[in-house]
Amino acid sequence: MRRPDGEVRWVHESFALDACDPGSTALGTMHDVTAMRTADADRRAAEAQLRRSFEGAAIGMITTDLEGHVLTVNPAFLDIVGRTHAEVVGTRSAQFMHPEDLVHLTPRSAMIDGGEPSYVAEHRMLRSDASVSWVQKTSTLVRDDDGAPAFFTVQLQDISARRAAEIELARRAAHDSLTGLPNRELLVDRLEQALARTIRGGGEHVSVVFVDVDQFKDVNDELGHAAGDALLVQLARRLQAAVRPGDTLARFGGDEFVLVCEGVGRAEVDQLVARVEGAVSSPFQLAGRDVGVTVSAGIATGGAGVSAESLMHDADSAMYRAKQAGRARTVVFDDAMVATASARLDVERALRTALAQDQLEVHYQPVVDTGTGAVAGLEALVRWRHPERGLLGPGAFLDLAEETGLLPAVGSWVLRRATGQLVRWRGQLRGAQELWVAVNLSGRELSAPGLVDTVAGALADSGLPPGALHLELAEASAGGEGVAGVLDALHAIGVRMSVDDFGTGYSSLSSLQDLPIDTLKIDRSFVAGLASRAPDERSIVTTVTSLAAALGLAVVAEGVETLEQLDALRGLGVGTAQGHLWSAALTAEELAQWWFEHRESAPF
Ligand code: C2E
Ligand code: CA
Ligand code: CA
Repeated sequence: MRRPDGEVRWVHESFALDACDPGSTALGTMHDVTAMRTADADRRAAEAQLRRSFEGAAIGMITTDLEGHVLTVNPAFLDIVGRTHAEVVGTRSAQFMHPEDLVHLTPRSAMIDGGEPSYVAEHRMLRSDASVSWVQKTSTLVRDDDGAPAFFTVQLQDISARRAAEIELARRAAHDSLTGLPNRELLVDRLEQALARTIRGGGEHVSVVFVDVDQFKDVNDELGHAAGDALLVQLARRLQAAVRPGDTLARFGGDEFVLVCEGVGRAEVDQLVARVEGAVSSPFQLAGRDVGVTVSAGIATGGAGVSAESLMHDADSAMYRAKQAGRARTVVFDDAMVATASARLDVERALRTALAQDQLEVHYQPVVDTGTGAVAGLEALVRWRHPERGLLGPGAFLDLAEETGLLPAVGSWVLRRATGQLVRWRGQLRGAQELWVAVNLSGRELSAPGLVDTVAGALADSGLPPGALHLELAEASAGGEGVAGVLDALHAIGVRMSVDDFGTGYSSLSSLQDLPIDTLKIDRSFVAGLASRAPDERSIVTTVTSLAAALGLAVVAEGVETLEQLDALRGLGVGTAQGHLWSAALTAEELAQWWFEHRESAPF
């Protein structure tokens, strides 16, 4: 029907004549069925559109029945699995999955039983020609209007290209760009895996070899960086050719290569050494000429229970020994080295105990006025009363404390002990009211954070006036970078600063001029030379003392053992000194006793 405005309506019309009186009446009805007609057309259009998009979709799509048999399939799916329509419809879709990836099978029964309505996984598909494609699969359970499970739709997106890129990125992240060899992270990973396998296999060993080019810097400096790179690439190839297929050769950065070999015994270690050394036996072609190159190598071998870290550490220290022994050689890490390494571990552990259990002591050596013989101050010197080894001097443990990071703890303990003790003595000992105490600080302590707070805290807690605390800094560390700020901060507190062992470091007097230094301690070696009447020694001490006087610095002479030395120092105008001539370092009890006797008998 056409309406006046031109709109078309669909109608359903019926017309009936009165059967009894056909000439008189008729009954006609007309239903507007426009809505029904268009809905039908819409549905058909929608269906057609859906089918077209299903057919034309770039994503592989299938529908399956509840058991997983393929009902419908689109061409993109056929591309991914490399099959024809007839090969797919009616079969189970799982058969196209890579057999190793069947864990990613759609969990259909769980989904039917009311689990998650859709399932996403990434896995491989196997084509009929056995080639592999990677897909991201989304399976969805479709329910009918009553909520009953009807069928599954499965969408497969081909992610092979993305996957290849990911793998390449991962490979690049794990490999050195110059040589293409695995890098440090990958090597550590492989080493850990290899060690884990020794635990399972039993009896097998893993060797780690550190290889370092000798004087690589010379190649770079003399032949240029391109030649340096060429050397690394050629060496990488030669080492790679020298190792067995299952071994891992990695570049650790710089000119260092590391090799991990599995399943080795003593005999194989020797072969390994020979192969590594053989790899550098002929000259390298660098910048158009033949260049002979040597390497230093270190090997460590371990099995079940050894950590990757300790094995690498051992191989590294063996390599270091090879360098120290004159380079161009291989050192096998042996049990003697293990003993030293574990002895160090023992000392470290014991040192922590010492701190915790009060095994450390501070001993005090008097510093005396050379003119009057009166005690001006005390130098605090740390000792360790070891339960088995007896009394240990700082030389026996301070280096280790420094390496293990325990030194600041030791230092602050000494500082607190010494300041507290001095405050007590100032009150107890006759004539000790002006006594000062000198505490040694190593370079490491000087650069450790919190030193200024530690010093201020020790002074505040003990009540010692800041001027009665002298801090002795090794000459080299006093001139160190970034130290000036710390020294200024300490100076601002009012603490006095000494340069220890003066003459043995590298600083000149003028470089100290800008630092807040109060005292120079002339090293014992110069004082020892004074007695020998060697003119050189005497002139050094003379120069130092006169320059110190010009700069307004006090001078302390260390290690004075004889009256001759004392006379010489007096002659040079050195005002204070310490040494065995007066006393060695004493325990607190001994010092109090000495103090009493010294006052009675002071001979100088
Ligand atoms: P230093 O600061 O040069 O200390 C002087 C060293 O010479 C002390 O050795 C002392 O006992 C020794 N000595 C003193 N007079 C004589 C003498 O007449 N003849 C001889 N032959 N030696 C004498 P010590 O106590 O073994 O200390 C060695 C070094 O350890 C010290 O050298 C100092 O650098 C360091 N040190 C000591 N205690 C500490 C501490 O608490 N902290 C830090 N960081 N270092 C410390
Ligand atoms: Ca000292
Ligand atoms: Ca000294």
